[in-house]
Amino acid sequence: MDFADIATEIEDVLFTPEEIAAIVTRLAAEVDADYAARDLLLVGVLKGAAPFMTDLARRLRRHVELDWMAVSSYGAGTQSSGVVRILKDLDTDVTGRDVLIAEDIIDSGLTLSWLKENLESRGAASVEICALLRKPEALKVEVDARYVGADIPNRFVIGYGLDYAERYRNLRGIAVLAPHIYA
Ligand code: IMP
Ligand code: MG
Repeated sequence: MDFADIATEIEDVLFTPEEIAAIVTRLAAEVDADYAARDLLLVGVLKGAAPFMTDLARRLRRHVELDWMAVSSYGAGTQSSGVVRILKDLDTDVTGRDVLIAEDIIDSGLTLSWLKENLESRGAASVEICALLRKPEALKVEVDARYVGADIPNRFVIGYGLDYAERYRNLRGIAVLAPHIYA
């Protein structure tokens, strides 16, 4: 789905598909450089990180394993609850593994700070975070994200995996949702 298909539901365009591709390519080059000789396990947070993690993985010029977790921190609304629950756990034993968490967006930071600690407590050799987007003004807890694609204003955004009430994940770019949609 393109911006033009849902023009009345969008307030601002933030990133075109081409701009997202450039960001992901840059992040992949950084990851390639840092993990050169090490085994790497990418952990994606469903469902939002799916497009980002699969694009990131395809941009890496090395072998990598992919695994997925589902956690809930939001209901159908636009506010973080701070309560994290595992809905689907990893298939992989992370003991001794170098883990890179791929996440669509760091908002309050509550989900990722919880997840990072959780994976560290399982005995991972290292746990780092690669987030496509971050909202610095919304942070409630410090999150040490090694890779961040772009900082954005504290507005509710949709597309490229990011949803509002399960819609818009299939939008190819990223946009600010028009307030009349959730008002
Ligand atoms: P946090 O725990 O507040 O950092 O929330 C992170 C999760 O909330 C993300 O993985 C998204 O699923 C969701 N989220 C946060 N901000 C937005 C947004 O602007 N649009 C869509 N989903 C969001
Ligand atoms: Mg979500």
